[in-house]
Amino acid sequence: MSRMRAAVLHGAEDVRIEDLPIPPVGPGEVRVRIHAALTCGTDAKVFRRGYHAKMIVPPAVFGHEFAGVVDAVGSGVTQFAVGDRVVAANSAPCGKCFYCQRDQAELCADLLFLNGAYAEYITVPARIVGCNLLALPDHLSYSAAALCEPLACCLKGVEDTAVRAGERVVVLGSGPIGLLVTRLCALRGAAVAAVGRREARLAAAGALGAELVVDEAAGEALAAVREWTDGRGADRVIECVGQPAAWEQAIALTRRGGVCNLFGGCPAGTSVTVDTGRLHYEELTLLGSFHHTPRLIAAALHLLAAGVIPAELLINDQITLGEVPAALRRMGTRSALIKAAVQVGEDTANS
Ligand SMILES: [Zn+2]
Ligand SMILES: [Zn+2]
Repeated sequence: MSRMRAAVLHGAEDVRIEDLPIPPVGPGEVRVRIHAALTCGTDAKVFRRGYHAKMIVPPAVFGHEFAGVVDAVGSGVTQFAVGDRVVAANSAPCGKCFYCQRDQAELCADLLFLNGAYAEYITVPARIVGCNLLALPDHLSYSAAALCEPLACCLKGVEDTAVRAGERVVVLGSGPIGLLVTRLCALRGAAVAAVGRREARLAAAGALGAELVVDEAAGEALAAVREWTDGRGADRVIECVGQPAAWEQAIALTRRGGVCNLFGGCPAGTSVTVDTGRLHYEELTLLGSFHHTPRLIAAALHLLAAGVIPAELLINDQITLGEVPAALRRMGTRSALIKAAVQVGEDTANS
């Protein structure tokens, strides 16, 4: 068998299931037979838009969150062997540029991205093998392990925001990222108010540790957060929506002297308005956090292995490869879907 099935992004709303050659494995590379891939909010965005300037240029095999078993190793690979259970990040920094040398690997001038999770096999490039391919503990399932990449992004956001025990933190947005951030803030001992939409997601936010859950559709988030904080606003706010209006709302929810992380990436070319009086006289700290680093990928796997991130609350559907286009379409609607696990390997289990 030398061919595989894969979901290929061709353009906006155009993902096709195709029969492709199994990718070869070169020096330093590792080929993985994928056991679980996860749908992601970024994929849903890219599906609507048709491309992502940094991450994926079509036509290309779609998807970037996966875990599986090493199927072949290239020459020179000594740290992995056929049969190892692994997870890979969707990128790796160069380790040499201005940013990498200053411990800002997420801003690497030459970040190498990897796509191709919605397929039976993927070849992991040597650079990712070198710093962002990790062996799984035996007890960790493939689908839970595949949460490693989004969880590492969320760790970056929560670390940069310096969330501390006892603080009142608002997490704005109840998609997969907002839910993971909610969990991480709760694990740090903060009291979390989750502000979002859709019943299933808000229920998940409560189950993941939010003390207060506010349905944003009711339009009373500001009043609810004020009441929860004795009229002050939140100590820290982490915005996980990625729309300019949500960024402005996040700033409005932050108390005097508070910190607001504008964590969700907005459409290119958009801007927001900030009240200069609030920024100056109320000493607001506004910041952004992007992506992850090898240290955070390892930290994310550690948390998943420790069992403190309940994957079953976040991955609430199982689909086949053929159902990927429909699932991506569904994510943009008001469905209850949070993340779907794509069972890529299932129909070829004995091949
Ligand atoms: Zn993702
Ligand atoms: Zn670099």
